[in-house]
Amino acid sequence: MKLPGAWWEEDHPREACGIVGLWSADRPAALLAMMALCALQHRGQESAGIATSDGLVAYLHKGMGLVSQVFHEGILRSLRGHLAIGHTRYSTTGASHLQNAQPFLSETLYGPLGIAHNGNLVNALPLRRRLLERGVGLSSGSDSELILQILASPPEAWGSLAPPLEPEGDPWIPRLRSLLCLSPGAYALVILTREAIYAVRDPYGFRPLCLGEWEGGYVVASESCALSMVGARYVREIAPGEIVRLDPRGVTSFAGGVQPSPAFCVFEYVYFMRPDSQREGGTVYSVRLALGRQLAREAPAEADLVIGVPDSATAHAIGYSLESGIPFIEGLLKNRYVGRTFIQPDDRTRQWGIRLKYSPLREVLQGRRVVLVDDSIVRGHTTRQLVQLLREGGASEVHLRIASPPIRHPCFMGIDMATYEELIAHRLDEEGIRRFTGADSLAFLSLEGMHRAIRETMPSPEGGYCAACFSGRYPAPLPEEVRGHPSPKFIFGRIRSAQ
Ligand code: SF4
Repeated sequence: MKLPGAWWEEDHPREACGIVGLWSADRPAALLAMMALCALQHRGQESAGIATSDGLVAYLHKGMGLVSQVFHEGILRSLRGHLAIGHTRYSTTGASHLQNAQPFLSETLYGPLGIAHNGNLVNALPLRRRLLERGVGLSSGSDSELILQILASPPEAWGSLAPPLEPEGDPWIPRLRSLLCLSPGAYALVILTREAIYAVRDPYGFRPLCLGEWEGGYVVASESCALSMVGARYVREIAPGEIVRLDPRGVTSFAGGVQPSPAFCVFEYVYFMRPDSQREGGTVYSVRLALGRQLAREAPAEADLVIGVPDSATAHAIGYSLESGIPFIEGLLKNRYVGRTFIQPDDRTRQWGIRLKYSPLREVLQGRRVVLVDDSIVRGHTTRQLVQLLREGGASEVHLRIASPPIRHPCFMGIDMATYEELIAHRLDEEGIRRFTGADSLAFLSLEGMHRAIRETMPSPEGGYCAACFSGRYPAPLPEEVRGHPSPKFIFGRIRSAQ
């Protein structure tokens, strides 16, 4: 089921969750997890949850809403233990109900098992069918429950290609390897057991997951901004296809048993990640500045002011301004207090949607030629309204500059973007989009320019990138039946074992 979404929400791809997992010797794990989730709130605002373990018993609390609405002191006190995983959700599969909120927690042969994940299992449907055929019931539409049930079964039940049980007898490593063999993407996972936290990134590494440490513990999280929140320092990324275990003995890394093929999602840099997060030796903010600079080199404009669509395109706009020498100024103000709602608009109210969120600053705009920088265009409706808003605010010319290439293809790797038909750049060429938006001129960053800006900013690259929504080149072949009928299922075949 697809969510209706709030009708004034920005026309952007939607992220699919923030995750954290930690072991703490010196402070309550639930409190630290809650703080980390606050830093990851931008990755999902529908629900939040934390599961903990004190080495004997596991505890769980989750609810609908923001992290600050779901947790209070009494609840945090009841979540006892030194191990915790946490989750903030934006749903791409499964409806927005408490039933689908994460983490999922279940009893298994080896004690409690909790799961929280970011992404989608691209082959969830056949995996669900196989579970149901084996008589395993499922109570939600969430891929987390599916993962939990896969991990709860012995690997042999899936005809696993994974190597046998670890010599030291850890029952979870072969199960996690089995999962990596069964589903190649697109997920980052944190797992709670009675005695340890596990973290896993799929063999393509589509979604981010990094490791941090402090004197009294270890933490894994979707983004490094969550590490600093708990007083941890950034150590490294979890590698594509890697399994990591955190426990009182420290951090142990295990090969996932599949051939990694790194394809990190470039949209994480363009839009999803928080600007102060770091990876590959640089910060997301520096990438966005570089994208804006490259855009100014490729698509200069005769104008008086540069304005970014707040807040996601602010850094791109500053980069454009620095390179072009055209002053950057705030020309659009954002109302940060418009929450989500599920009221469906009629034609009249739809026109007012964007006005609830943005206001033009007439004093700044009056009679000025404006470069409006945005990070991306998906359907184009928001962009058109923003151009109109700037004109009503007095701008004499509006030159649209987009700090990423045209999005012509849907995402099949867990990002809720749009179908082929909904993507404006799939239907219209650049001039057609310009006419639709009403801008005086329009230019997108080139694919080569985007890759160059990322390469030049990141001193220690992890490997390849996925830019399939721009280029149409998916990291693995797309079966014929999927082309033209976008669905996030059945994309990749079973991945080859590296053993
Ligand atoms: S298709 Fe686009 S949004 Fe999806 S993983 Fe690739 S780069 Fe990211």
